[in-house]
Amino acid sequence: MRIEIIPCLKDNYSYLVIDEIKNIACVIDPSESKPIIKFVEKNKISLKYILNTHHHFDHVGGNKELKNKYNAIVVGFKNDYDRIPEIDFGVEDGQVWKKDNFEIKIIHIPGHTSGHISFYLFKEGIIFTGDTLFSLGCGKIFEGTYDQMFSSLKKIKSLPLNTKIYCGHEYTLNNSKFCAKYDSQNIDLKSKIFDINKKLKNGLPTVPTILKDEINCNIFLKANDVKTFTKLRDLKDNF
Ligand code: ZN
Ligand code: FE
Repeated sequence: MRIEIIPCLKDNYSYLVIDEIKNIACVIDPSESKPIIKFVEKNKISLKYILNTHHHFDHVGGNKELKNKYNAIVVGFKNDYDRIPEIDFGVEDGQVWKKDNFEIKIIHIPGHTSGHISFYLFKEGIIFTGDTLFSLGCGKIFEGTYDQMFSSLKKIKSLPLNTKIYCGHEYTLNNSKFCAKYDSQNIDLKSKIFDINKKLKNGLPTVPTILKDEINCNIFLKANDVKTFTKLRDLKDNF
């Protein structure tokens, strides 16, 4: 499987999971259809599945057009059937979604929205975390509770340390400033920020990030209890 990063809208990332043998792909969170169409047409890839982490517009905006154009199947959380546009197939926590050569474990990670899920390609060691875990940050809590978000992050933390994380937005630079402010003595963080700045300077995405780095540098993953996490999340909301 090859992962292609497709920048969308202002700071969103959509992703293609490409089976290079069959030349077919899933798209994760198509914010808009145009950049996806452009890429698959140019590379003669057949887009078969649309996978949504949650129902927010900047993650599902391309569903309808892509489905119409390619006859792709839309997959999302079963409890969000009424708010994910064009959904065909509902999945639930712990389920392994298997089609063609794609084998993806669904992990329910509520907090940002109540129906937020992540897509874990356990064989490849890759996870798509949408707006729950960002590099050096985490999503705003819109529908869930602090407890829910904290335990969702804990679920991700329990994956193998070398797991590659692909998140929904390029928020890393701003996130890094927040981490640096409240964790200024962290040497791992300093070197991570150095790498981030280098990538951004060269016009490159800061994703994927590695779980081990996030555990060492992401202040929200470093929080050991809900109380600390809550305090940090509130501070970040006003940062
Ligand atoms: Zn969102
Ligand atoms: Fe988003």
